[in-house]
Amino acid sequence: MNPIYIEIIAIGDELLYGQTLDTNSHWISSELDKVGFKVTRRTTIGDREDEIMRAFAEAEQRASIVLITGGLGPTNDDLTKPCLAKFFDCEVAINEEALEEVTAFFKKRGRELTEVNRQQAALPVCCTKITNAIGTAPGMWFDRNGKVFVSMPGVPHEMKMMMSNIIIPKLKQQFRTPSIIHQIVRTIGIGESFLAEKIKVWEDSLPSHIKLAYLPSTGEVKLRLTGMGTDEKALKKEIDSLVEKLLPLAGQYIYCVGDHPIEKVVGDLLRDKGFKLSIAESCTGGYVSHLITSVPGSSEYFLGSMIPYDYELKMRQLGVRPETLEKFGAVSEPTIIEMANNVRARFNANIGVATSGIAGPGGATPDKPVGTIWIAYSDKYKTETKLLKLTQDRLVNIRYTSTALLGLIWQNIRK
Ligand code: AMP
Ligand code: MG
Repeated sequence: MNPIYIEIIAIGDELLYGQTLDTNSHWISSELDKVGFKVTRRTTIGDREDEIMRAFAEAEQRASIVLITGGLGPTNDDLTKPCLAKFFDCEVAINEEALEEVTAFFKKRGRELTEVNRQQAALPVCCTKITNAIGTAPGMWFDRNGKVFVSMPGVPHEMKMMMSNIIIPKLKQQFRTPSIIHQIVRTIGIGESFLAEKIKVWEDSLPSHIKLAYLPSTGEVKLRLTGMGTDEKALKKEIDSLVEKLLPLAGQYIYCVGDHPIEKVVGDLLRDKGFKLSIAESCTGGYVSHLITSVPGSSEYFLGSMIPYDYELKMRQLGVRPETLEKFGAVSEPTIIEMANNVRARFNANIGVATSGIAGPGGATPDKPVGTIWIAYSDKYKTETKLLKLTQDRLVNIRYTSTALLGLIWQNIRK
């Protein structure tokens, strides 16, 4: 299938002056992408006849579909309509249906129809009118030599309504689009470049119609496979089999084939296994509990948490031994072990986990720089700890630690 070239032309001096952000082009691109149309070029120009005529002529050379927004107001500064009439070499005349619509629009609002507004119903006679259900400027659809030009108002909500209700369905009728399938695979516990190395052979063997993207975020990396083809079923099968081949290479890091967050995957595992979770959070201040409880139904496996931020509370409430705190400090392996074990015992849970560290920007010591963070997992068979050496940024550290802790739970209960 030949690619369909699609261009967007945004018209308006205010866009070039930096007074208005061109949100229309962004929105149109993303809506078209959802239905398999790829935009190939976007142009922004001012309200000048020579620029508009040139942009139309150039776009017609390259593209099969040209979508235009802006320049349809009733005032003299808006030039898109006369330019389209000139470009398609046809007269402008009052369109009776458009006149009825604009008259009804003003009547409904108890306002008089002025001559300027009446002129909004004047359209190039060679176009098909696109009704504007929520404004006064109709859109226009032109067909010439198998190519389509569509002109829409600049007002975002008017443009969106026309695109969604009329233009996209009509484009789908007129042009065949390829099927596009996205498959997300979520990994945790490995950095982007290490992951890339592990799956290099597999990546190199991907066919040209299937693209791979690495999407890293705090503490995890998403892989996105995007396939394009004519047979959606075959494409889906092909992508499924590629994911199968990925598992032996990186399966130990893949927590979800799909797009569920780690807190949801961990929650489902806890529920399936009938495990109860308790948390002692120091440096994360409740963020892990927030993630866990943002999943509906978490009361089935989450008993609760304790946030013993204070030294005293670590001893009194959580039972961390004073000797441990004194000898090793709050940010240490012996302390995190006691925190995880004790919260499990005190809450009568199957699993206890804990965080303690220096989130920053203050609080560092010579041997414990900002970003030094311990996390631990405890069940009745074992206790596992992990030392994280993170960043100078407090919120990044909190988010990263929380993801890492959820990853540690996942690694321990996945089997
Ligand atoms: P117009 O169709 O040129 O009369 O545009 C009407 C209004 O829509 C302008 O005053 C802008 O506020 C807004 N507008 C025009 N073009 C865009 C665009 N590309 N993105 C977002 N808003 C726009
Ligand atoms: Mg304008």
